[in-house]
Amino acid sequence: MEKSLRIFNSLSRKKEVFKPLNPPFVGIYVCGPTVYSDPHLGHARANIVFDVLYRYMKHIGYKVRYVRNITDVGHLEEEVGEGEDRIARKARQEQLEPMEVVQKYMNIFHRNMGALNMLQPDIEPRASGHIIEQQELIRILLEKDWAYESNGSVYFDVLKYHEKYHYGILSGRVLEELIGNTRNLEGQDEKRNSFDFALWKKATHEHLMKWPSPWSEGFPGWHLECSAMSLKYLGEPFDIHGGGMDLLFPHHECEIAQSTAAIGRQPVKYWIHNNMITINGQKMARSLNNFITLDELFSGDHKMLEQPYDPMTIRFFILQAHYRSTLDFSNEALLAAGKGFHRLLNAVEALEQLALSGTSTMDVEDLEAKCYAAMNDDLNTPILISHLFDGVKMINSIADGKEFITSGDLERLRSVYRIFVFEVLGLRAHETDNADDELTGKLMKTILELRRQAKENKDWNLSDTIRQKLNDLGIIIKDTKDGTSWEKK
Ligand code: ZN
Repeated sequence: MEKSLRIFNSLSRKKEVFKPLNPPFVGIYVCGPTVYSDPHLGHARANIVFDVLYRYMKHIGYKVRYVRNITDVGHLEEEVGEGEDRIARKARQEQLEPMEVVQKYMNIFHRNMGALNMLQPDIEPRASGHIIEQQELIRILLEKDWAYESNGSVYFDVLKYHEKYHYGILSGRVLEELIGNTRNLEGQDEKRNSFDFALWKKATHEHLMKWPSPWSEGFPGWHLECSAMSLKYLGEPFDIHGGGMDLLFPHHECEIAQSTAAIGRQPVKYWIHNNMITINGQKMARSLNNFITLDELFSGDHKMLEQPYDPMTIRFFILQAHYRSTLDFSNEALLAAGKGFHRLLNAVEALEQLALSGTSTMDVEDLEAKCYAAMNDDLNTPILISHLFDGVKMINSIADGKEFITSGDLERLRSVYRIFVFEVLGLRAHETDNADDELTGKLMKTILELRRQAKENKDWNLSDTIRQKLNDLGIIIKDTKDGTSWEKK
């Protein structure tokens, strides 16, 4: 098994050779969704990136426990204090029970993730099911004097923590610069310093999701659930913590602070962050009206979309970029991804019918080694895909009789594509597409035959009409001396 995986650790800010704390076990914790709105492209990217990490770790022989939480306790609009609980607001808008809102958006999230062919996490803990664990962590932090109670709420004492440890170790933020740089929000007067963050918030009378505690009837701070659940299920410390770059500060910085204070050491060995998706060069934001949900992408029902996109096209599009690069969404880019993906699938299909030869002109071993090298280099999926396309060229040459392959090499080549396209990248050949393609092929054969007859009868009008109508449907036909071929635009 190939185990020379190197990954970029956000904590050390460099690529490191991956060494699990307790081989062959690997613990991965990824911050999951807050379930009060539709999953969007950003969710697709983060989850695909960590799905591929999970798949590859398993492929190279590790026993992986993949934990992804569900944030369902209704945090506030603003991080510290102000505003309405987001789940409660949705419950009011949609006239649902808060837990009905949670269930509704959790179901949509799971359906969308399934469509994108994501493996299920091994544990999917919900914050609302771990209130006791979160309260226990608060109790420890209070006991060790890393936190203080104020008016029924409990806050983490960042300045005190920074005297012993390093607040900013992950994000590079300098605490001194954060002083006086925080907006004046409700609850500020309860805190010793503006950058202290809530471990427990006393609930107002109208607040819907609240639990009893020794301090007040209230709810846990957002950062706390990930500390409590990751340490519970993966140990102290554990191997990998992942999430989007937008979570790096303050969420992950605060997680590190709480956990470190509670257990007396760094809680996580490798921090991995995926970069963001932009839309036509702009940040994705509801205020910019360019927020595209996954259901809208799959149905094409959004004014920025020129057509519906197959979930596998979206998956392939996301994997064509390295996870640490930004990725710009556009219709053109998705159309190109769709074409590329089909070219890849066609070659995989062609692999089943290649003629065998006594010699090989193709170096399958080299191709396989390059594929592993790409994945081992910080999960470089775009480079992996480019190697797979080099292989596609060769497969097509063999199919055309210009190159040759032995049965042993063909067996190995099939295994390379099975492993990397389906097992590691998690792509899936769409069954329904295949059925549609088969029917399309038969229909096109019939139409082209009718057009040939029209031409034979010198009915140029009819033959041109057929060409034009097909063109309107996005199908281009080409007349050559060998007959007529067709392709989708
Ligand atoms: Zn988290």
